[in-house]
Amino acid sequence: DRLIEPKGSPQEEAIDRAMRPKLLDEYTGQKESCEQLKVFIEAAKGRNEPLDHMLIYGPPGLGKTTLAMIVANEMDVNIKTTSGPVLEKAGDLAALLTNLEEGDVLFIDEIHRLSPVIEEILYPAMEDYQLDIMIGEGPAARSIKLDLPPFTLIGATTRAGALTSPLRARFGIPLRLEFYNNQDLAKIVARSAKVMELGIDDAGSLEIARRSRGTPRIANRLLRRVRDYAEVKHDGSVSQDIAGQALDLLDVDSEGFDYMDRKLLFAIIDKFAGGPVGLDNLAAAIGEERETIEDVLEPFLIQQGFIQRTPRGRIASPRAYHHFNMDLPES
Ligand code: ADP
Repeated sequence: DRLIEPKGSPQEEAIDRAMRPKLLDEYTGQKESCEQLKVFIEAAKGRNEPLDHMLIYGPPGLGKTTLAMIVANEMDVNIKTTSGPVLEKAGDLAALLTNLEEGDVLFIDEIHRLSPVIEEILYPAMEDYQLDIMIGEGPAARSIKLDLPPFTLIGATTRAGALTSPLRARFGIPLRLEFYNNQDLAKIVARSAKVMELGIDDAGSLEIARRSRGTPRIANRLLRRVRDYAEVKHDGSVSQDIAGQALDLLDVDSEGFDYMDRKLLFAIIDKFAGGPVGLDNLAAAIGEERETIEDVLEPFLIQQGFIQRTPRGRIASPRAYHHFNMDLPES
C-alpha cells in the first residue's frame, strides 16, 4: 500500500476517530467554510430548525467526515453514517430514514455513487420529508407514503461534478474544502502528537506538514510512522532532523510525493514528451485506474502547479522538470 494512500484501513479509521476534533473551534483551517457554517448553525439553532442539507466536496482526507460529525455535535443531534456504494436497496435507505429523530444528521459519504433508484427516494425525503417507496412485487405491489421527521442530509464527495444536477440542486449549503497550508497542517500535527502523548517541536511538526500533500489524514499517518522511527532510532521525541530522516527512509520526498506521484509525473515527461496526454493513455502507462488519477493523485499535483489540465490532456509544467533536475524540452 502507498504510505500516502488517502483512504485508511479499518484499523486506521479507529485511530483517525481518536484524532478527530469534536468542535468547530478545534477544526483547523478551512476558514471560509467554518465561518459560514458557524452562522448557519447559530441561525438554525435559533429557529429551532434542522440545518439545511449540506454538500461537502473536496479531495479525500481533507476532513469532510470530520466536519459532518462536528455539525451534528454542534447542533446537539445524532448522526447516522453510510455511503453511496453501500446503499444498494431502497429498503436500506428507508430503514435509515425512518430511524432518524427530529433534527438528526444523515451522512452519506461518496454520495456521487448512489444508484438512480436510491436517488429517486432521496428527492422527496430531502424536499418534503416524505418517504415514498414501493413495497411488494407484481400485482400486489403498492406504494406507501410516510412522514419523516425533519432532518439534515450531509453528503460528501470527491467530485461534485459527478452528482446529478437534481441531486445537487437539493443541497442548500455547498461547502468546498481546500488543501491545507503548511501552517495549518503543522497545527494539526502538533495537536495529534499531543493526543498521542508524543514530544515534537515546531520545526518537526512543520517538516511533516510540508510533506503531507496538504492533507490532514496524510499528516496524521506520517506522524505515526515518524513516531515509530523516533522510538527505534532516537529517544522517542521528534525534531525536524528526525522527521526528515524518517520521511526520507519512507521515500516521501521533499514535496511529499511518493513513488506513484513521481511515476505519474515522470511518465508524462518521459513517455509522452511532457504532454499533452489523455487520461486513458496515462492510466495505461502507469497501471493505475483513471478515477484514482483524477480523484487522488492529480488534484494536489495540479494545485501545486506540477501538472496542467488542458482540453487536449495533461501537461507537465516546468516545476515537474525541476523536481527531477531535468532540463525543459526545447519546444
Ligand atoms: P474525509 O472524510 O474528507 O476523507 P476525514 O474527515 O476522515 O476526511 O479526515 C481524515 C483525518 O484527518 C481525521 O482523522 C481527522 O482527524 C483529520 N482532520 C481532517 N480535517 C481536520 C482539521 N480541520 N483539523 C484537524 N484534524 C483534521
